[in-house]
Amino acid sequence: MAAVVMDGKALAAKLKGQVRLQAERMARKPGLAVVLVGDDPAALAYESGKRRDCQECGIYYDTFRLPEAASQTELLEVIETFNSREDIDGILLLLPLPRHLDERRALLAIRPDKDVDCVSPVNLGELLLDGRDTFQPCTPAGVMRLLEEYGVDPAGKECVVVGRSHVVGKPQALLLLRKNGTVTICHSKTADLAGQCRRADILVSAAGRPGLITAGMVKEGAVVIDVSMNRDAQGRLCGDVDCAAAAEKASFITPVPGGTGPVTRAVLMENVLSAALAHGKK
Ligand code: NAP
Repeated sequence: MAAVVMDGKALAAKLKGQVRLQAERMARKPGLAVVLVGDDPAALAYESGKRRDCQECGIYYDTFRLPEAASQTELLEVIETFNSREDIDGILLLLPLPRHLDERRALLAIRPDKDVDCVSPVNLGELLLDGRDTFQPCTPAGVMRLLEEYGVDPAGKECVVVGRSHVVGKPQALLLLRKNGTVTICHSKTADLAGQCRRADILVSAAGRPGLITAGMVKEGAVVIDVSMNRDAQGRLCGDVDCAAAAEKASFITPVPGGTGPVTRAVLMENVLSAALAHGKK
């Protein structure tokens, strides 16, 4: 039986609509600032996507673009300015930074209550400790939203996450654990990746390797979430999963594009709104 395709675009439109409704009623608008270093075309495209999302959601948007050769001091000054501006509730620093800049110091400089992508060590620590929870990392939180939307409860299920990055794999594992899944994290040194994946009731792949997850690695009836955004040999966007073949075995599956990507963007908008509410905006 073919899997239900999880429609990330539809869920994202619903979540953004809810943000817009609330933002429109507020006298002081939520605000997002994006900090960009250099002129990498992918980063510029990403930045203009954030601008569009904010326009759609009634969120104030500002950006600051530093030259590729900017110093650490200049970068920290820009972050500090956005930290102190009351019209800005969330700050997004586009990564990776040029190699001469210290990414960790820059992330630590973002005020935790404005760290809407939940990338700072403080917020990741809170996530680990099940502590203050104003917002969660956008991509893993988006995956949880998709599961919820389609009535998939991780409780008691075997959850396998492929990838252990700080932005996707590790926080994803923590969020599944919070929902009482039994979680395994796989990575490039995992001895039997296929065997681990075949045990999964919920399989989340975030390896960034096209074709890594074949239908033979998918358990009958599994929920398959493909977080990755790769380019195939023809330059088309694709995930890690052989989607057409895996869909013959899975119960639910996300497409790429149109799966987790749009939901990640919508969760960022939700996080900016949550930050604004936490800052007392009404
Ligand atoms: P990353 O930092 O490169 O991490 C990739 C992880 O996958 C690493 O932990 C790596 O293991 C593991 N891995 C790589 N090859 C593997 C293999 N052959 N077998 C098992 N594990 C393997 O990437 P990321 O930032 O987490 O992003 C992952 C993917 O998600 C990328 O395609 C990215 O574009 C996409 N992404 C999508 C969204 C979205 O909104 N949907 C958001 C962010 C990222 P090691 O640790 O052992 O090296």
